[in-house]
Amino acid sequence: MLPTLPSLTDKLAIAAGKLSAAAIRAAGAGLGSNLPGRVARRLSPGILTLLGGQCRRGVLAVSGTNGKSTTSGFLYSILRQAGFKTVHNRQGANLVTGITATVVAAANLECELDADYCLFEVDEASLPVVAAEVPLNAVLVTNLFRDQLDRFGELDTTARLLNKGILHHHSLAVLNADDPNVAQLADGCQRSYYGIESLAAQTDTACRSGTVELSYCPDCGAEYKYNLLFYGQLGHYSCPFCLSTRPTPQVAAVEVVVGQSSSRFILKTAKESIAVNLALPGLFNVYNALAAAALASSLGIAAITIADGLKKYTTLFGRSEKLIIDDRSVVIQLIKNPAGATQVINSVACNPQGAILVAINDNLADGRDISWLWDAEFELLEKHTGPIMVSGRRAQDMAVRLKYAGIPSGQIIVRPNLHRGLQEMLAMVAPDQTLWVLPTYTCLLELQKILRAMGYVLADT
Ligand SMILES: [Zn+2]
Repeated sequence: MLPTLPSLTDKLAIAAGKLSAAAIRAAGAGLGSNLPGRVARRLSPGILTLLGGQCRRGVLAVSGTNGKSTTSGFLYSILRQAGFKTVHNRQGANLVTGITATVVAAANLECELDADYCLFEVDEASLPVVAAEVPLNAVLVTNLFRDQLDRFGELDTTARLLNKGILHHHSLAVLNADDPNVAQLADGCQRSYYGIESLAAQTDTACRSGTVELSYCPDCGAEYKYNLLFYGQLGHYSCPFCLSTRPTPQVAAVEVVVGQSSSRFILKTAKESIAVNLALPGLFNVYNALAAAALASSLGIAAITIADGLKKYTTLFGRSEKLIIDDRSVVIQLIKNPAGATQVINSVACNPQGAILVAINDNLADGRDISWLWDAEFELLEKHTGPIMVSGRRAQDMAVRLKYAGIPSGQIIVRPNLHRGLQEMLAMVAPDQTLWVLPTYTCLLELQKILRAMGYVLADT
């Protein structure tokens, strides 16, 4: 498709967008602002189409409930490793305004975008909106968990929105075979699947439990049966009544080993297989890496380049951030919904002496409804011996949740003020111990400010 020639208004829109971004930076205001995108779109509603259409090799989108940022971070690292110039909304502003802000920032004042790929992390509800403005060559879907009840309500609604976004241009759909909610998407489009084939014998099975979420066969409505279940609804499933079953993945992880702070697996693509090492804990990060590998592989990138790109990736934006503060290691991991939080709690539970700081806010960006805390398996911390602090606006609710999870009241410290809580917790942790910080989104933003004031900067902030 030939892009239309930029008008004076388009050029003005880019200049105005860049100017407002500079003003925001100068004012020291927050991350991933949508304002420059909003300004540019007001002046030129077609600006995203104009700029996105200039990508030499295409536009890639990453969507799904959990792991969008980490997965697109992995993919960005692989594309760089492969020598491609990529424009990416790496600060996680994943609505159409934030995506517009990203391309406006990357374009020059002549409305030219010099990029091989655009890689967009896209909010599930925004996928059809973005697809209506830019042709998406490939759409990757990580997983579909119950999330942000106040915004979407139903899983079916989210699935419909994703389908609408994929079908708009009949994009290549790169889908998680192990998630029945995802595997059934994009019927009628070209689909490429990824999945975990096997866990290595030494992978501690105690570290891969979690709530089982029921899922149903789309063909006959029967409940799926699993012969291998990883967490949530992810695993190897089949329908006991009809022939519907987990699709065979074209890109797979085998012999997966998950450790406390790292994991490794053999990556198998259609033609190659290679060992992959990740400096990140949790089976969910194996899925994130595998998803990125699957999309990269569909672009023709070699396995060795994929493995190198995955290894080089440093985590974005506190999704799993490691810091050393006064010889104490601090691991920060965002929590925002039951399945994701359960996986994080699982990694923490493998290290029962560490200190834990859970910070819960209920601002709009966190989701006002915090009932999901009751679906996250804090019960896994029952045998935890280290101190546990709760903080944020909903510190009291979190304390109640922990009491019901079987943690003695005497072990729970309540400090609604996050700054004070963090200082106190750091003073309490022994030098060889780890402090795990589990914040909701706006608590993470607050934490970044506190750490910046202490002289620590988290990646990409
Ligand atoms: Zn069936």
